[in-house]
Amino acid sequence: MVDDSTAATQHERAHETTSAIAFDNSYARLPEPFYIRWRPAEPSKPRLLQFNEALAATLGLDGLDSDERTAIFSGATVPTNAEPLAMTYAGHQFGNFVPALGDGRALLLGEVIDRHGVRRDIQLKGAGQTPFSRHADGLCPLGPAIREYLVSEGLSALGVPSSRALALALTGQTTMRETVSPGAVITRVATGHVRVGTFQYFAARDDVDSVRTLADYVIQRHYPDLTQAQAPYLELLRGLVRRQAELVAQWMNLGFIHGVMNTDNMTLAGETLDFGPCAFMDTYHPETVYSFVDQGGRYAYGNQPTMAQWNVTRFAEAILPLLASDESEAVELAQPVIDAFADYYQQARRAGMAAKLGLAEVAESNDELIDGILDTLANDDVDYTRFFRRLSDMAANPDEDARVRELFNDPEAWDAWRRRWREALEAEGGDPGERVRRMKAVNPAVIPRNHSVERAIQAAERDGDLAVFHDLLANLAEPYADHPEDREGARPPAAEERVVRTFCGT
Ligand code: AMP
Ligand code: MG
Repeated sequence: MVDDSTAATQHERAHETTSAIAFDNSYARLPEPFYIRWRPAEPSKPRLLQFNEALAATLGLDGLDSDERTAIFSGATVPTNAEPLAMTYAGHQFGNFVPALGDGRALLLGEVIDRHGVRRDIQLKGAGQTPFSRHADGLCPLGPAIREYLVSEGLSALGVPSSRALALALTGQTTMRETVSPGAVITRVATGHVRVGTFQYFAARDDVDSVRTLADYVIQRHYPDLTQAQAPYLELLRGLVRRQAELVAQWMNLGFIHGVMNTDNMTLAGETLDFGPCAFMDTYHPETVYSFVDQGGRYAYGNQPTMAQWNVTRFAEAILPLLASDESEAVELAQPVIDAFADYYQQARRAGMAAKLGLAEVAESNDELIDGILDTLANDDVDYTRFFRRLSDMAANPDEDARVRELFNDPEAWDAWRRRWREALEAEGGDPGERVRRMKAVNPAVIPRNHSVERAIQAAERDGDLAVFHDLLANLAEPYADHPEDREGARPPAAEERVVRTFCGT
């Protein structure tokens, strides 16, 4: 809980008028237990570091002048019609249930309807303590804010559902973690912030009415096709299972490791959310873990599908009373839907990997080829992203073979695999140039590489230098275009640049 002095200042600062943002705050229309109304802390010396013009335009926020941007996205000013609030939720953290978490360093400013008609949340992260902060400071160091900015924008440009980054500001304060860091506010935009943990909060209190209210809210907002369904809550479970299975398959195919797949970080909208110690892996290995806090490897790369299914099972438990009045009947309904995770996942994974290999046909018979190359990559410490990008060039031009072969320590295993792969391509036929185009559309040249993100953070935190951040961000905007291989984001780390541990900055 925040102390009294913080609470007192909550009401002293009045709304200041700025150009109207067309907020329409549906979550604030739910009853109070779903959130606590709260205002951002006053920054001592607000400074805007980055503003996402393209995203702002889709949200209809492009009319704000630079003073308004700085004031709003540092927490200095609460714009008219915003109704800032901290959301209530619980969650399983590394398998342990925590009955009360909530937004301890985030505030939902409000919602806008974007140019495509989609309702989107605008949330400040790092704008001070809330009643959910417990003993933490409610602040966000610049480093983790930069990581979230780069990785969320990078994922989104890669075509993966993800929250977005709208703005990055400094508050003027500092915050203490491993070292003293400048305090930042990152403004993120998400299709929704209701989490599996939001349901768990009410389920843990046997508050079935609130679970139902929340489920109805989520159906209306994120699964509108289900409003007329025969069994809308069971279909909601199926919808979540499917979205999460497909999301995790995309992560896997790109080599992304979320790092903190706690149930409070899994949204009903099905987007990637909460970028802590997340990372893209360099060399391929299924046991890869970067997060400093994930000592047991619970959220290792290869465990992600299992953990996602574990999380949706917790969701099913939370809504059991909505499925049937008899518990065992409810379980009987839910179980096959939870089990379907494996099929949704396998389908998306297979389709994605077939595309990466340049195969038009998605068949179970490809599995041998897929597993074969992954084993070889793992044994040989091959850079995952570079391998698939070079393979794309190779598909139409066997002269490029040598550039792929040189990536392997043990070229024999590679040669054996390559022959089988060529046979599969030949059996399918088709235009080789077209195949290369298709492969390059799924095998990125540029990703938010861990060491590049780290370089961007170091330069910004130590020297206030945003050049690496901007350079990487620009390359990330077009990840599937052709980029020179030494570009920021395209270049794998040299041995001494390799980042093996990432921190969440909480
Ligand atoms: P996360 O690891 O970001 O998913 O956060 C887990 C929980 O800890 C959430 O309830 C956060 O609001 C809370 N939390 C994390 N960092 C802070 C912080 N610096 N101040 C207050 N609460 C925090
Ligand atoms: Mg979280």
